[in-house]
Amino acid sequence: MDRIFETSLDFAKKKDQEDSVAKYRDRFFLQPGIIYMDGNSLGLSSKDGEETLKIVNEKWKKYGVTIWNIEDGKYFLYQDFLGAKMAKLIGALPEEVTIMGSTTMNLHSAIATFYHPTKEKYKIIVDDLNFPTDRYAIDSQVKLHGLDVEQAVKVVPSPDGKLIDEDAMIEAMTDDVAMIILPTVLYRSAQIVDMKKITKAAHEKGIIVGWDLCHAIGAIEMDFSDIQPDFAVWCNYKYLNGGPGAIAGFYINKKHFKMEPGLAGWHGNKKETQFQLKQKFEHNTNNAGGWQTGTQPLLSMAPLEGSLSIFEEVGMPTLRKKSLDITAYLMFLADEKLAKYGFSVGNPREDAKRGGHVCLEHEEAYRICSALKEKNVIPDFREPNVIRLAPIALYTSYEDVYKLVEILEEIGANKLYEKFDNTRAMVV
Ligand SMILES: *Cc1c(COP(=O)(O)O)cnc(C)c1O
Repeated sequence: MDRIFETSLDFAKKKDQEDSVAKYRDRFFLQPGIIYMDGNSLGLSSKDGEETLKIVNEKWKKYGVTIWNIEDGKYFLYQDFLGAKMAKLIGALPEEVTIMGSTTMNLHSAIATFYHPTKEKYKIIVDDLNFPTDRYAIDSQVKLHGLDVEQAVKVVPSPDGKLIDEDAMIEAMTDDVAMIILPTVLYRSAQIVDMKKITKAAHEKGIIVGWDLCHAIGAIEMDFSDIQPDFAVWCNYKYLNGGPGAIAGFYINKKHFKMEPGLAGWHGNKKETQFQLKQKFEHNTNNAGGWQTGTQPLLSMAPLEGSLSIFEEVGMPTLRKKSLDITAYLMFLADEKLAKYGFSVGNPREDAKRGGHVCLEHEEAYRICSALKEKNVIPDFREPNVIRLAPIALYTSYEDVYKLVEILEEIGANKLYEKFDNTRAMVV
């Protein structure tokens, strides 16, 4: 899509005035003087989320253990209530989504459910760019079956170290492949992987397909009713603003509701008989809640209720439209003002191929991030040379982006990064 941008501050201000999403900025806790560009690592706290957290805390104070019974069991079934709200973000059925665990644990749960290797069909296809925790989970699940990781995990390398080649993934789908697990949006290059094409090709070969939506949910539009993958996992603390380490998301296709969960627990039991506390597990086959394990952490879930209501109010199409526009504006300014200082845009340029963040590359990326922090900008750095910048549609203004680029220009022109150490901090 052709967009016309200008380099002036007045232009940024005009864009903000015309922006229908701009009013939501007030619903978030932005710190004065700070330009927050890291909402794809940890989304900001919202007033709506704080409110629902307070409500749950008040109910705990007032009702004690009977919190599980009030309001027709709202909190006993809170994971399914929130899951149904979240399902809209990915075009899934309300019963196909639940909230539980962490991304990593949910991946363990899905693999434990779907991975039943045989002599003939035992390989799991992965890429070599995904966030490493996914690989750690996959490798350890393979080992639990007594298999050799080198043999069973089929790594399809990226041709350029930045992007996944979908055709290479499909070519790798030989008869011995049992499962494929990939990210939907790459955490470094922001590439959107074609879920439909890969899912379809895999299913034609009898391969189970799982997607990691961490950098996709709340950032891009997805239609699972069309894609029909087998499972998906994601965290809720990035674009969904659920809070640091918020409880994660889990999707399981309705056609698999009767499968036995690989990691079972009493909250995955049929709701009607759960409190009969029988020794024998009776799997809840009505919804994704059948994959729950232990008691749900209400206080970790509560901010999501408020946060999701903002998403319901604005709608993903509107958010995605702004996100594409504001990230395109950032890329435009980077080309115009930063290229001469050695910065380059590392993400795909095409709308259909890029997620919610901009991947700005520079050989001094780490030290530039330190210089940005000193100037009250919160970016994040990813090895080896990536400055990730996420102008989040809900709370970032065009003026923020303008100022960010102005600061980067100053850092680049005067080599302000030179005074910083290149030794990596514990959390970067
Ligand atoms: C952020 C992220 C994770 C995080 O996993 P947790 O279990 O929530 O810590 C996993 N995978 C990807 C692709 C991510 O971007």
